[in-house]
Amino acid sequence: MRPVVLCFSGLDPSGGAGLQADIEAVGAMGAHAAVVCTALTVQDTRRVYGFQVMDPAFLRQQADKVLADLPVAAFKCGMLANPGVVALVRELCQAHPHIPLVLDPVLAANSGGSLADPRMVEELATLFPLAALITPNSPEARWLTGCDGLDDALARLHALGARAVLLKGGHEPGDMIRNVLSLTGGVAQTSRWPRLPGEFHGSGCTLAGAIAGGLARGLPLPVAVTRAEVWLQATLTDADRPHADGQAVPKRVRSEYPC
Ligand code: PLP
Repeated sequence: MRPVVLCFSGLDPSGGAGLQADIEAVGAMGAHAAVVCTALTVQDTRRVYGFQVMDPAFLRQQADKVLADLPVAAFKCGMLANPGVVALVRELCQAHPHIPLVLDPVLAANSGGSLADPRMVEELATLFPLAALITPNSPEARWLTGCDGLDDALARLHALGARAVLLKGGHEPGDMIRNVLSLTGGVAQTSRWPRLPGEFHGSGCTLAGAIAGGLARGLPLPVAVTRAEVWLQATLTDADRPHADGQAVPKRVRSEYPC
């Protein structure tokens, strides 16, 4: 069987972000996604209206059954929503230290709507030492560290225990987007991507899911990151645009049944 990524993510009913992004991204990288749905959101491509978190004890049962049944080769976390779900992920990572974790520290949607309990800034930090990679965008890096400057934020994320950080620059100004992969020893690689017009829904989930798929297949971290970035850019270039002024949905399923 293909290696499995066990994803902990929320349901976005518009299909742009969350668990649907994970399933499609992991699949595109040649791995199989198994999903524990942490929360249901009320959301469209324009904004978040609300969310309900699932019972962590019930989620634990789901995760345990999948772990006992399938060859889980990576964990991927998106929307964890509240401290109870973080505690569940922490326990699983401690029980399975050989399984790499890709942690997308989701605090808000790209549209700005909150997807997390206010306590989550401190809670997510407890997962940093357990993660093979964390993938904050620049607003998340600032919220998580309290630092304004991105170099300071990176240093603080490592001081909080993160071994590897992919700091995504899509929210910073400029025609080129700069992503930095930083390891405890320093910057490992920097990539630059032409900024595509408009806004995207679920781009962060898509990238982190694809990286987790690559890690599950045994790729070294920098290779998994680069492959995922190249593929993400293609999904954004071809994104579906439901509204002239709204967010576009990445096109992750790229070969269609020939009707
Ligand atoms: N997880 C869920 C369930 C979401 O609905 C969203 C955003 O809408 C996210 C994560 C984060 O999305 P993005 O990839 O746009 O940062």
